[in-house]
Parts: sequence; C-alpha cells; structure tokens
Amino acid sequence: MDTEFEVLIAGAGPTGLLLANELGLAGVRIAVVERLPRRTGWSKALNLQPRTAEVLHCRGWLEPVLDRALTLLPAGHFAGLPLDYGALDTAFPHQVGIPQARVEEFLEDHLAGYGVPVLRGRELTSFRQDGEGVTVTLRGPDDAEGTLRARYLVGADGGRSTVRRALGMPFPGRDARVGMAVADIELRDDERESGASGDSWRLPDLSPDPAGSAFLLPLGDGVHRLFLGGPEQQGVDRDAPVTEDEVRTALARCPGPPRALRAVRWASRFTDVSRQVERYVDGRVVLAGDAAHVHAPAGGQGLNLGMQDAFNLGWKLAAVLRGWAPDGLLATYHAERHPVGARVLANTRAQMALTLPDPDAVAVRELLADLLAAPDANRHVAAMIAGTDIRYPMPGAPDHPLLGARAPGVRLDAGRGLLLADAGTAVAVAADGWRDRVDRSDAPDPYDRLGRTAATEGTGALLVRPDGHVCWAGRGADADDVCAALTRWFGAPRTPVTHRGDSGRTAAPTS
Ligand SMILES: Cc1cc2nc3c(=O)[nH]c(=O)nc-3n(C[C@H](O)[C@H](O)[C@H](O)COP(=O)(O)OP(=O)(O)OC[C@H]3O[C@@H](n4cnc5c(N)ncnc54)[C@H](O)[C@@H]3O)c2cc1C
Repeated sequence: MDTEFEVLIAGAGPTGLLLANELGLAGVRIAVVERLPRRTGWSKALNLQPRTAEVLHCRGWLEPVLDRALTLLPAGHFAGLPLDYGALDTAFPHQVGIPQARVEEFLEDHLAGYGVPVLRGRELTSFRQDGEGVTVTLRGPDDAEGTLRARYLVGADGGRSTVRRALGMPFPGRDARVGMAVADIELRDDERESGASGDSWRLPDLSPDPAGSAFLLPLGDGVHRLFLGGPEQQGVDRDAPVTEDEVRTALARCPGPPRALRAVRWASRFTDVSRQVERYVDGRVVLAGDAAHVHAPAGGQGLNLGMQDAFNLGWKLAAVLRGWAPDGLLATYHAERHPVGARVLANTRAQMALTLPDPDAVAVRELLADLLAAPDANRHVAAMIAGTDIRYPMPGAPDHPLLGARAPGVRLDAGRGLLLADAGTAVAVAADGWRDRVDRSDAPDPYDRLGRTAATEGTGALLVRPDGHVCWAGRGADADDVCAALTRWFGAPRTPVTHRGDSGRTAAPTS
C-alpha cells in the first residue's frame, strides 16, 4: 500500500501542533487528525515556563506568542511557595501568562503556512502497524470510517489517549487521590469584569486549608478563572458536570470582597492521577505529551512538558524520514524524555502532598518554606519547575558545564544543527561534510554568544542539536572528536572528511 503521509499526528493540542510545526519546518509530509470539529477556545493551562519560551525563541516563534500573552510573571511556584525566576540563567526569566487556547491558535495558524492540514472532526479509533508503516482508522463526520496510511504515527491525543490504549502500553503510576475543578466565569461586578489584563495575577495560595482552597485569576474580556478545591470536590465522578452551586461555594471562599456570579462559561474537573508510559516509542508509533504522562497541574508544567517532548522528537523523526538519522536516534527520544517526565511526576506528587490539610504536611511545608528562603535552594527548585535545568546524558566530558544542557539564547530558525567554531579551525573544516544538516557560525568566543563566559572561557567550540541542546563541547583543534559527535547525532557525512591533523581516518560518506 502506498504511504499517503510520512507522519500522522493524532491530536491538535499544544504537543501535536508544536510537533507538526517542527515536522512542517523540516518539509516532512504530515497530517494532524483531531477529534474536535473546531477549536473550543477553552484553556486548561495558562502559562509557558522559561524553557518553553526558549524553545519558541529558538525557532523565532516567541514574539507572536508574546503578542497574545496576558502578562509576564517574574516568578513560579512550588505548591504555592514562591520561586524567583529572576535568578535563573535564561534570557526569559518569567512565566508567560497565556491561555492554552491562544498558544494552540498561534501554532495552528503558523502550521497553515507549511500547507499542513489539520483534519478536524476525525477521531482515530484504531491502527495497525507493520514493517513499513501504520494504517490508521478514523471516524469522520456522520460516523463515516476511513483509513490513512503513514510511515509513523504519533499519539499526541491527550491523557485518555486512544493510541496509548490501542498499543496496550503499560501505564504505571497511581490513581487519583484528590479531585479538583476549574471554571471560567463572569462576575456581576463591572469593575472586576473590566480587568482584562493579567496585571493582578499573583501566585496561587495553596496553603493547606481543611475548608478547601479557591482563587481567581483574570483572563481578560471579563472572564475569570476560578479554581475549586476542597472536601466537596472529593469522590466526584470526573465526568459529572460542574454545577453552579459548586462554583458559588468556591467563589464565596475566595479571598477578597464578596463577588456575585453572572455566568459560567466553561468548567472542567481534574485530579492528581499520576501515570507515565513505560516506553515512548513502540516500533512506528510514538507517544508524546499527556498521552505519555499525566499528573496534577501543580506548578504549571504539563503543557510545557508536552511541548518540550515535541521539540525533542521533531528533528529526530525528521532525520529518520530524511534518511540521515544515525542508528538509535529515535530511541534517544525515550531515553531523554522519560526521565524528564518522571521527574515532573515526582515533583507534582510532592507538591500535592504539601497542600494536604494534614499537620505533618504543614510541618514539611513550613520547613520547605524556610529552605526556599535560601537563594541557592530557591534557584535549584525554580530551575526544575522552569525546565531550565534539563540536561540530557551525553558522551563526552561529563563535567563540562554545557554538555547536554540547553544553549540558552541560541537561534536555530531552520531547525538544523549548529557548530559554533571559528572558520578555518580544524573542527570547522571537519564539519564541512555535514553542511547539509549542520550550519556553522563564526564564534570568536562561542560562549560569549551563549552568555556563559565566566564558566567556560577559552574552551573553543560547541556543537548544538536542532533542539538547542549542546551535544559536543571542545576546542577548535579537536577534529576527530567533533567528527565522532557529528556522526553520533547527525549520521554519516555526505562528503569524505578531511581535516588538518587528520590521523588518516575518514568517515564514510552517505550515498
Ligand atoms: C485544570 C488544568 C489546569 C492546567 N494548567 C496547566 C498550566 O497552567 N500549565 C501547564 O503547563 N499545564 C497545565 N495543565 C496541563 C495541560 O493542559 C496539559 O498537559 C496539555 O493540554 C497537554 O497537551 P497535549 O497536546 O499533550 O494534550 P491535549 O491538550 O489533551 O490535546 C490532545 C488533543 O487530542 C485530541 N484527541 C483526543 N483523542 C483523539 C483521537 N482519538 N483522535 C483524534 N484526536 C484526539 C483532543 O481533542 C485534543 O485536542 C493543566 C491541566 C488541567 C486539567
């Protein structure tokens, strides 16, 4: 059977749409299938963390996203305890306050520029994979069934992922212990309704309270996000509609003056269920975002985790399809992203434990609040929630401060690798064989460009992957070394490698 697409992505949420943009940028023939006939406009998430801002900046996509933002908060939080983002090693030391729907809107509009269709009103119901590809069955409008064929299928279809279930992939973890809800509401108070900006955004108060916590955030256009926690939320069926009575009870509990409800625009229940798939890749089927991991939204990390999954996966999948991927490249998606997801699951469980109205939890919370008053401790936790401390294991000098870490501030608009090394140095000459995949930029001091002069002065050259992570760091003379790293991450060179100081070895070119 002919392959109609190279990749099919199930789900046009933030994960699927960012992945689609990455593959679109690489010229991969893809389609996105989405169950919903149109965008709902409703948002679960309300923020982008600093690492996600860096990711968007890396492709030149941050500015238009910032244009849609409500506010920039110079802080994050851990179970409501403040984290100072100003101390982070990033050009974007803030949370971007932006409804998820606006991020999706940008990504879908941008995707149209690549000519990639989002096939809406089409639900993936099953699939079958074989040695060459995946045949996907879709239910379309009027319940009509059809099939599409692709070389790879990515399940970015959310926490109740059909792709994950159809794979029969183990999804270990634990069930929900705490139930909560959110509602986007209008208030009968003209003054408050006009609060269209995020100027009054503050970190949520998640102090343990036996009566349950509730807080409000202005979302603009007279809409406010109400968070509902507390005893009456426990044991409620997740699919039961949120009632106006529940909303009024929570509204009355919010700090500040009394407020009257005018209307509930949208409401949804959620829990602290915590699960992660055992494997992100199964043959020709890949899982990303909530399809691969679910957890409480504590600290505002889920959407960010999913978008960062997509950014790690996109260039690797494109490399496989373009035929230059070295052996095992796709497997590094699981190897790198599974531990990152596991860490988020662990920190969200810890955060939830700190919000329980239990005297022991209160004692731990007070201790942690003391610890977070120390700048080093605060920066450590801030970097974890912000995603700026992510460092993938890489072969090479493990104590090098940049190896495996992201290169902050670097722009890779074309989604290609980048060698930062002076023209004419041995590494620059050696990298010529990869110039169809790796750009080179003169960098008298590459670390200067990355804002890391103090730690790494004079070290010489860096190789950056298309996802902005440093995969080699060395000196301008280390030609054999850089060839090994280029081969490991970018496959065999197109042309035989010759370089000064060459010990006679040449890497075999690809056809
Ligand atoms: C109340 C709440 C608040 C949150 N707040 C934050 C926050 O502030 N910050 C943060 O980072 N995260 C937050 N999150 C988490 C965040 O919303 C999710 O992690 C994020 O939506 C995951 O994106 P995704 O694209 O992986 O999945 P989803 O957003 O769930 O998108 C999956 C898409 O797939 C479609 N789909 C499903 N099944 C099929 C199928 N069979 N065929 C075709 N299409 C299908 C769905 O319609 C959907 O459009 C919050 C979550 C909740 C519940």
